[in-house]
Amino acid sequence: MKRSFAWGVLGLAVTGCLGLPPAPPPTNPIRFLSINDVYVLDTLADGTGGLARVATLRSRLAAVGPTIFVLAGDVLSPSLLSKYYSGRQMVEGMNAARLDYATFGNHEFEIPRDTLVARIAASKFKWVSSNCTEGTGRPFPGVLPWDTLTVQGRKIGIFGLTIREQYRSYVRCTDPDSAARVAVDTLAKLGAEFIVGLTHQTIGADRALLARDTLIDLILGGHEHEAHDETVDGRHVVKADANSRSAQFVTVWGTRDHWRVAPALIRIGGDLPADTATQAVTARWEDSVRRRLGPERVVATASAPIEARDIRTRRGEAAIGDLVTDAFRSGTGADVALLNAGTLRLDDVIEAGPISNYTLESLFLFADEARVVTFTLTGARLREILEHGVAPGSLGGGPFLQVSGIAFAFDSSRAGGSRIVGPVRRADGRAIEAGDQLKVAMDVYPACEGGDGYRIPEAAGACATWQTAPRAADLLMAYVSGPLGGKMTPPAAGRIQTATGP
Ligand SMILES: [Zn+2]
Repeated sequence: MKRSFAWGVLGLAVTGCLGLPPAPPPTNPIRFLSINDVYVLDTLADGTGGLARVATLRSRLAAVGPTIFVLAGDVLSPSLLSKYYSGRQMVEGMNAARLDYATFGNHEFEIPRDTLVARIAASKFKWVSSNCTEGTGRPFPGVLPWDTLTVQGRKIGIFGLTIREQYRSYVRCTDPDSAARVAVDTLAKLGAEFIVGLTHQTIGADRALLARDTLIDLILGGHEHEAHDETVDGRHVVKADANSRSAQFVTVWGTRDHWRVAPALIRIGGDLPADTATQAVTARWEDSVRRRLGPERVVATASAPIEARDIRTRRGEAAIGDLVTDAFRSGTGADVALLNAGTLRLDDVIEAGPISNYTLESLFLFADEARVVTFTLTGARLREILEHGVAPGSLGGGPFLQVSGIAFAFDSSRAGGSRIVGPVRRADGRAIEAGDQLKVAMDVYPACEGGDGYRIPEAAGACATWQTAPRAADLLMAYVSGPLGGKMTPPAAGRIQTATGP
């Protein structure tokens, strides 16, 4: 009974996606269930997702036949819970869901080295990475460069790749393509009949990899947050939607000369009951964050989507930057508010509709809680600080400043000291003079700690008591519930203009 029930559910999902009538299952298939970019265990605000549901899907599949459950990177960070627990909750959740393999996502390397090593050690699943090691070049303890396993009498080879970025110095990621070549050659020599890449890189890089390396039979990928299913010479690269909104279920059958691969995207929603063990882990960790922050509740409504992706906040004015800096100014009475974009950690668009206090908390994921200090600057010094935010080394990165109370234009191609073009103006349009005294609110990382290359001795007095300064999340919630009347509407743009050089 159990078997046919499981096949009924899956058959429906698979053939439903492909638009085909139900087909008999292939004989002795190998199955992969793949998720990626999973930052939270719980069901999402819109009712979709939830690792406990994926775990149920995994159990149903396993009841039918061998299934390899994998995660293609980005799991330990960032999230509201990871701010406090550094991914411990995610490892426990993945253990309960009986994950088989994971590879590193770029966000794994945001947590300190010893914490990462502890998370790997606590994992009941295997970590595989063919291109990322300790800075010394030695593999992280317990991490495999590749692995083989025998399923349905066939030898499967699996390797892992992660995109290269500017990581902390404890990690070294070599060129993914060269690492893939070594891994694939080795797996082929070991007699792997079917070779699958678990990758965390762009879909373009995945396609190029498939095109270059014909021994790779399948890529289960991540890093993009939207589902993909693309083919190169008949071989698939698939990705699921982030946060378990969907999972990719891939059925493989045939022989090494003629593999048949059938991916199906399975939406994760309320039709899948929660797996008890995984749900228990989820609930326990949610309880501990509730003890810290109080219950999750709706605190605002967004009238339109609010742009909060890094690619936008780090090189120009963005709606979330406007709203947060307005909140800094409103709550502190400052003339000007500044926020380094690197402090904003959501890296997502906030959809129109209800917004919870936890979403607003999730904007600020650093241990200092992005507290906000207030100090006095001259107009000349403000201009210097703005210059640093638009320097070539800052634009596109964390130092770029979101602002409130001022408007200016910049041209990064100009020489240092002249990148701010024309006057810096107050909100009412008056130009700020060099000798003007301005009350400025800014978060502690750049203002007090030299973070992102800022040097602001004028803030030293305020920084001496930064631990009692208001939290950015509290300022934002007070601003939203007070002056904004519960409506988060993206303000009209116009504070930061890009000027074209002469
Ligand atoms: Zn990623």
